[in-house]
Amino acid sequence: MMDLEVTLYILGGVYGPRAMTQLGASCDLLKVKRGQTTNFFMIDAGMDMGLDASMGRMGFSNPPYDLNRLEEILDGHKIDQLFLTHAHTDHVGYAIYEPVRENLADSARIICTNPTAAFYSDNLMNELESYRSMRKRKLIDRLPYTEREAFLFLRRLYDTFSRPEALEIVPDHIWVYPSPAGHMRGACGYTFRVKYRKQDVKIMFSGDRACHSQLSTRGAPLPPKEWYPDIIASYDCTNGGDDLTQGGDEATFWMQELARMMAVAKKCDASREWFFASAFAMERFPTVAQTIADMGLSVYGFSPSAQRSWRIMNSKKGFWCNGDMPVDGTGVNFLENLEDAANLEEPTALIASSGMGHGPAAKCYYKFLPMENAVVASTGFAADDTNNFRIADAQDGEKILLRFPNRGGEEEIPVVVRARREKFRLTAHSLRETAAKSAEELLRYSQFKEPMLGLKHGPTPALDWFESRLGGFDTFRQDRPEDRCIQLV
Ligand SMILES: [Zn+2]
Ligand SMILES: [Zn+2]
Repeated sequence: MMDLEVTLYILGGVYGPRAMTQLGASCDLLKVKRGQTTNFFMIDAGMDMGLDASMGRMGFSNPPYDLNRLEEILDGHKIDQLFLTHAHTDHVGYAIYEPVRENLADSARIICTNPTAAFYSDNLMNELESYRSMRKRKLIDRLPYTEREAFLFLRRLYDTFSRPEALEIVPDHIWVYPSPAGHMRGACGYTFRVKYRKQDVKIMFSGDRACHSQLSTRGAPLPPKEWYPDIIASYDCTNGGDDLTQGGDEATFWMQELARMMAVAKKCDASREWFFASAFAMERFPTVAQTIADMGLSVYGFSPSAQRSWRIMNSKKGFWCNGDMPVDGTGVNFLENLEDAANLEEPTALIASSGMGHGPAAKCYYKFLPMENAVVASTGFAADDTNNFRIADAQDGEKILLRFPNRGGEEEIPVVVRARREKFRLTAHSLRETAAKSAEELLRYSQFKEPMLGLKHGPTPALDWFESRLGGFDTFRQDRPEDRCIQLV
């Protein structure tokens, strides 16, 4: 008699020396074998955005680390459904590329929330547009996917979640509950319930998760009791490497950072200095811009992509759970060209997108870094060798090399750092002690004595912290080669 077998393949993340500083892309494959029947579900198919030392530059289209194992694991099967937790590139960026696209079953849907679907389609069309222009300028020979392929791919996005409600994906055997994850508008985790003969197991993928509230979305709530998991296959460990609280209360850390930022912006306004901040286009950009506008200060945005995603966030498609809070954009104006800032009568606050200080933000850095009457701020984590990292690391008056957008790629140009610099950690991931407590709470009703808990989405030092903090669980981790294939049931 064949029983139930559930196996997790970790295709994303990284291991080896690179894992010390990189967290890699998110991409998990869940194999569910019930007797003679096998199903495969993919959870996220992100792009690996980290620095690849062998290329010496940012990789813009790197697949998840072990995606080349996909076909061998599928062994003639196809992926039955693709689940996306949220619209960030490290979770969705590789989904349309051939290795994933060509292995989806004909009937496979892309399952995600309404806002994730809206952000994703918009970003994809925008990416296709930039590939087209690169081809026109002969920077690439062929498009990684055609317009027709993109159209057919996006057709799989029908019937997205408009509320957190369980979905039956295999009649009588497999259900999935999308739990709001805080992190950004539309973000969710997925809990699979698999029932077969006498077995009945719930397996959670947390997605990127914030227990604290942000401006546009409330912190992740606990699921309804019947959806508490028995196993957590993937848990967000982003902040494990940092003690951000410095003795303070974790639950209010985000608000303290926002208050500190408001105080600096206010001071700049009073002393007629520029306040420039770089922020991720989705979620953090509206947070920073709206907060400054709500204080009654003049604020401008510079970023076509942030402007588009803000519009989506305010549309009907931008909402899916009652943790979503409107951020209407009142008082925030957008600049079409950065040169238009010269027409402003006096220094003002300006927010540009790119969480790590590239793209539109790099142009602003070029303008503001040499200015003595400017404050230049970053609002999130700065990965190694990104512009934000180089700027944070520089001495006053030092000449640094700025990575500047150029012909679809980047070139390095020198710039002298004279502006005052500030760093704010408006993290969209739970702080580590909060995250650890939340994992304990989520697993408190597990049917297993020592529940399995997959530590993901963090570099090695972060995973080390979680592993030693969560000693009562059977932990496994993305940076350990022998944990890349795990028998869950
Ligand atoms: Zn994310
Ligand atoms: Zn992520």
